Amino acid sequence: VPEQAELHLLLSMITPLTWLERAPAYKEFIEHNRENDRSTFGVLGYPLLQSADVLAYRAGLVPVGADQAPHVELAREIARRFNHLYGGEVDFTANSEAAIRKLGKKTGKLYTELRVAYTTKGDVDALATAQALIREQNSLTLSDKERLLGYLQGDSVAILPEPKAVLADNAAKMPGLDGRKMSNSHGNIIPLRAEPDDVAKAVRNMPTDPARIRLSDPGDPDKCPVWRFHQLYSDEHGQAEVSDRCRAAAWGCLECKQCVIDAIVAEQAPVRERAKQFEENTDLIHSIIAEGTEKARDAARATLEEVRDAMGLAFR
Ligand code: SF4
Repeated sequence: VPEQAELHLLLSMITPLTWLERAPAYKEFIEHNRENDRSTFGVLGYPLLQSADVLAYRAGLVPVGADQAPHVELAREIARRFNHLYGGEVDFTANSEAAIRKLGKKTGKLYTELRVAYTTKGDVDALATAQALIREQNSLTLSDKERLLGYLQGDSVAILPEPKAVLADNAAKMPGLDGRKMSNSHGNIIPLRAEPDDVAKAVRNMPTDPARIRLSDPGDPDKCPVWRFHQLYSDEHGQAEVSDRCRAAAWGCLECKQCVIDAIVAEQAPVRERAKQFEENTDLIHSIIAEGTEKARDAARATLEEVRDAMGLAFR
């Protein structure tokens, strides 16, 4: 979807460098690559490209892991800045009030109440409800929808609505095989469709409590990356058993790891199974991608038309 790349470029003109430099993922990348200078504009600008990925579709909710939440926050700040710079409209308040009347008495009243709850008390749930309410109004024109979305948060048209991060409740964070954050660049991952033998090999090679040199040495699960996998895959009873056996040197680390291997292989089995039909039919994959791309492109095109218009670049 080339419109995403175009939006990335246009947004880069209004994004202060410091906003990108303070992104935790960027700082972490620089920290881990001190020796070999791999810092490029692409790395620095990556969260902005992610913002364009979200904003091009005017996404309301973005499901992310906790480590990506700051990037959604960045997308929100950029949307706010864009709307502030380019979303101005003469008679905005009067036009917005006229658009509220078009909602009808009942819906208009509900919209106003939600708007007041957000602007006076900062109630973000009220904001999300009001945004959903406006988006589902088929009788409103696109301009009136944008006006009312903008009116919810301030005095500008929301050409780029602010997205909201959705974090899974109690989301378990999967550690890497070496206990660090799981990351492709650290080479400590288990691919989702790994073959069972590769899963077994990867887990068997995991480091354990360094104090457990011999089978008879008692271990401390808290010092072992394998234990963190047990905390994710074993139930309470299983975890107590692992902990007791480790501390009492009642079993070997390979035996302990086998439980984790079995759990991961079982968890991935349906994924491997489901992927098989697609691996065997690449035409199907290409048609799914083509169809999805077309749908996505329609949405991105509509956004870009308005973005160019607002920025005075509607030359086509
Ligand atoms: S027994 Fe299990 S938890 Fe204990 S050190 Fe070995 S692998 Fe880790």
